[in-house]
Amino acid sequence: MAGPSPLTKLDDDRLAEAGVELYLKRDDLIGAEITGNKWRKLRYNLDAAREQGHGTLLTFGGAYSGHIRAVAAAGHRFGFATIGVIRGEEHLPLNDSLAFAVSRGMQLTYLARTAYRAKASPQVIDGLRAEFWPFYLLPEGGSNALAVRGCAEIAAEIAAQLPPGAAGPADLVCCPCGTGGTLAGLAAGLRPGQRVLGFAVLRGASFLDDEVARLQREALGAPTANWSVSHDFHCGGYARRTPELEAFIADFQRRHAIRLERVYVAKMMRGIFALAQRRAIVPGTRVVAVITGPAV
Ligand SMILES: *Cc1c(COP(=O)(O)O)cnc(C)c1O
Repeated sequence: MAGPSPLTKLDDDRLAEAGVELYLKRDDLIGAEITGNKWRKLRYNLDAAREQGHGTLLTFGGAYSGHIRAVAAAGHRFGFATIGVIRGEEHLPLNDSLAFAVSRGMQLTYLARTAYRAKASPQVIDGLRAEFWPFYLLPEGGSNALAVRGCAEIAAEIAAQLPPGAAGPADLVCCPCGTGGTLAGLAAGLRPGQRVLGFAVLRGASFLDDEVARLQREALGAPTANWSVSHDFHCGGYARRTPELEAFIADFQRRHAIRLERVYVAKMMRGIFALAQRRAIVPGTRVVAVITGPAV
């Protein structure tokens, strides 16, 4: 994981027609088992856990969580025991995600949905402490102040890699949003005159605006004013697919020989193309799409 991930230009006539230049920040090419924004969000947390003398990482996620997989892989690789607190009931046999986590040494425990919703509350945390203490606690999705710091480095790399621009509309950096940690970090690391647009992949994710501001307050002391969230491209909700999204993914692969990750990246990319084609992105804008993870 030495050096920055590549920044490459994508040539596409539909964007050229709309006057938009698109660059891809290929974080999907980082690492193997701990890839993309999961690595960005974990790296400083792993340092902090080690500095604080912790040997165990405890975190939260749904049964298909990429964050759970990444934490299990990170524990295996960097020598931490790991505990995954999974939403809902245990279902056996384990699905591929949880089976992978267990294969990397993660101990799984389950929280019923109501308790899971309150997972940040003192009662739930105290319960976990009683059972598993000591541990270094990573929030769901790994989004905390140190994750914001790790994701700010994506923006710093982009700033160094993007060719110097002619005076024109502000550069627009785009990312998909689950918990909003990546967006919070990107916005924190950009140059003046650049903006970030996050694409929510959950339906009804109105919590995102508050959450991104909260994460920025925690990491920087105050929120920045250079970001916004689009709620128009979630395709019905988390991990939902529409025939139109499937067609977009297939067409993108035909044209560019890149397989888009379906849960997050494809929704962002479809959103960028839709906004460009309806001229909602000012012609002359340079867009950077952060490819936050690989197709699995
Ligand atoms: C986990 C994940 C995200 C979500 O990032 P947040 O920081 O939670 O918003 C985005 N893209 C990919 C590919 C992911 O795996």
